[in-house]
Amino acid sequence: MSSSNTYPVFRLQPVPQTEEERLIAKIDAVLPQTQCTKCGYDGCRPYAAAIAKGEAGINQCPPGGDHGIHVLADLLQREYKPLDTTHGIEQPRTVAFIDEPVCIGCTLCIQACPVDAIVGAAKQMHTIVADLCSGCELCVAPCPVDCISMQPVPAEELARDRADQWREQHDLHLFRLERDKWEKQQKTAGAKAPTSPADAGVAEPPAPASTATSQAGLMPLDAKRALIAAAMERARQQREAIKPQNTEALNDATKAKIAAIEARRAKENND
Ligand code: SF4
Ligand code: SF4
Ligand code: SF4
Repeated sequence: MSSSNTYPVFRLQPVPQTEEERLIAKIDAVLPQTQCTKCGYDGCRPYAAAIAKGEAGINQCPPGGDHGIHVLADLLQREYKPLDTTHGIEQPRTVAFIDEPVCIGCTLCIQACPVDAIVGAAKQMHTIVADLCSGCELCVAPCPVDCISMQPVPAEELARDRADQWREQHDLHLFRLERDKWEKQQKTAGAKAPTSPADAGVAEPPAPASTATSQAGLMPLDAKRALIAAAMERARQQREAIKPQNTEALNDATKAKIAAIEARRAKENND
């Protein structure tokens, strides 16, 4: 990790160095990459690691199904076993769909999505980018108003044809989480996230002699920071002013869930 006022180098997946890491990468390469966790692990790569270490069977991945088990058996020279249905059953591929008029903008689905396929902001309607959705179903249960459903996709669109795309999306998702965690730690520790080349450890160009101009691009660094801080505060106040929508027809239990979410978000905003 780097010093407090410079960004650390966040990496996507490192190049395998050892025999075991190479084996994990080979196994991961044939898994479907929906990142659904049905295998009992946090995603496809952790499951690949468990298989490589002999800690998991090759028949725990419902999205991979029977085809996937045969591929793993061939790759690892292990005996074929039918899918262990305690992990789920093999099903046609689906993608998530949000009933947008019902959505209250709580963001719980965004937080659950392992491949960043959901677009939306707090207290605003959310939508799913179907082309990015792996069909993992992880967003369905957290939705407090049950407005997410899984919809079938054409039979010829196999999950394994999208595996490389979802692996990359998931790696970027993990990268984003790591970066966000680091920025939060910096905030808690009182350090400012870099807002300028100087903060990021890069030489700042000399400030202009005149400070009378109103153009942000010609302002000295302190003035630029004040301008940015004021803009961020205005944006925060505007966000606060927006209220959850579509809540009139909800029952008391759902309204209580929403109130709890709002309280948690307000606390997070103030931390
Ligand atoms: S697709 Fe789901 S069940 Fe299969 S390995 Fe990946 S996370 Fe596990
Ligand atoms: S939108 Fe839902 S189903 Fe699709 S990948 Fe994200 S969490 Fe999974
Ligand atoms: S209401 Fe449901 S769909 Fe809308 S943001 Fe919350 S979890 Fe997502």
